[in-house]
Amino acid sequence: MASKEEARVHCNQHGSSRPAYVCSHSIASLRDGRKRGLVFVRDEDGQYNGWCDECDKFLMSHGEEWNDETEGFAQISLLCEFCFDQLIEMNEAS
Ligand SMILES: [Zn+2]
Ligand SMILES: [Zn+2]
Repeated sequence: MASKEEARVHCNQHGSSRPAYVCSHSIASLRDGRKRGLVFVRDEDGQYNGWCDECDKFLMSHGEEWNDETEGFAQISLLCEFCFDQLIEMNEAS
């Protein structure tokens, strides 16, 4: 079989899920319930990549490219995609 193995992440709440990539501040938002804004994109595989307003500002003032410096600021890590959905809802709620 030529298909690559699909990455999974284990979530205590949701079990085995597809991974989403988010900045450390957005993960902090999920934990402490404070909105930090959320900018996100879905790639062609339907995978989420998200980051907070602060990271977006940092990114815009550093050439709008993900590189060592901007990634160092964001400290992107893995989240399960259902938790990511919660993060979207949380940031959209008024
Ligand atoms: Zn951030
Ligand atoms: Zn989850």
